[in-house]
Amino acid sequence: MIERRKTRPVYVGNVKIGDNAPIIVQSMTDTKTRDIESTLNQINRLYKAGCEIIRVAAPIEEDAKALPEIVKNSPIPVIADIHFSPRIAFLALESGIHGIRLNPGNINDKGKIKEILQECKKKNIAVRLGVNSGSLEERLLEKYGYPSGEALAESALYWSEFFESVGFYNFKVSIKGSDVLQNIKANQIFAEKTDIPLHIGITEAGPGKKGSIKSSVGIGILLYMGIGDTVRVSLTADPEEEVETAYSILQSLGLRRKGIEIISCPTCGRIEVNLPEIVSKVEEKLKYLNKPLKVAIMGCVVNAIGEAKEADIGLACGNKSAILFKKGQPIKRVSEEEMVEELVKEIKNID
Ligand code: SF4
Repeated sequence: MIERRKTRPVYVGNVKIGDNAPIIVQSMTDTKTRDIESTLNQINRLYKAGCEIIRVAAPIEEDAKALPEIVKNSPIPVIADIHFSPRIAFLALESGIHGIRLNPGNINDKGKIKEILQECKKKNIAVRLGVNSGSLEERLLEKYGYPSGEALAESALYWSEFFESVGFYNFKVSIKGSDVLQNIKANQIFAEKTDIPLHIGITEAGPGKKGSIKSSVGIGILLYMGIGDTVRVSLTADPEEEVETAYSILQSLGLRRKGIEIISCPTCGRIEVNLPEIVSKVEEKLKYLNKPLKVAIMGCVVNAIGEAKEADIGLACGNKSAILFKKGQPIKRVSEEEMVEELVKEIKNID
């Protein structure tokens, strides 16, 4: 059982972050925000996949002007990412958004940042205070020589103190570097010194499989240490894949349970069915089924009996057929052609 770090609550719209709330899964759209229709379509797909807060980029005025329509029709709270421009930030703050991402290192004007925070406070808009290795302040680069974990943590602590000094508390912090060890170090130092919720992730983790592995290691270690109140897996891939990967990480640590958990064997010389194909068909058909069930799909009876007992339902395959198990009991024999349909039908019948 993982003991989570005690953090104070922050609200992004109606979503609670920190203070022992479930770890929230976020993602970011990759459409042009000014293309309202495509952006809303993607938000809806991500929502269906389990995304709980969505971030959209607003680098130019047209994007900020699209925000009211997007916020009005989004099923989940929207965070606007305003990059460098305080002018865009003020426009975004008028749009009804639930949160704004601010990298003080990019703006570097305390007067402007204070004005933005005062406006956020007035409108009850949460802030994500971002510190990235790519936009670290010059003075810290000079002090540490490079964006080390210590340097990133110092920057995050410095700006957190500044936010609090102007009476602003409704914020979480994200400290992100693309290096896993630097990331862990920075979050660990910050976590020991404050109770501010942390948004965790490995930035620019890379393409599909490699990015997922890098993210799983970095995010997984932090979560195991009890650190992390909200998470984004950053992949050079479809954002839906980010959401799926985030849930797989959380699920494997017992921190969230969402949808079907498939337990399947790696296959070996004993196999007499096309198990990879069966598993991927079942996975695809049950993608959006939100039942917290364990489904075992095993290549032969060697481990199947044991796994079937642990699982809610499962298949123990043999020679071109399988025994369908439910709650550890065999209920019927099915042919290889029927396996997927029969298993899916039985799963859908479970209340
Ligand atoms: Fe091989 Fe059977 Fe184990 Fe699958 S369950 S890896 S087929 S021994």
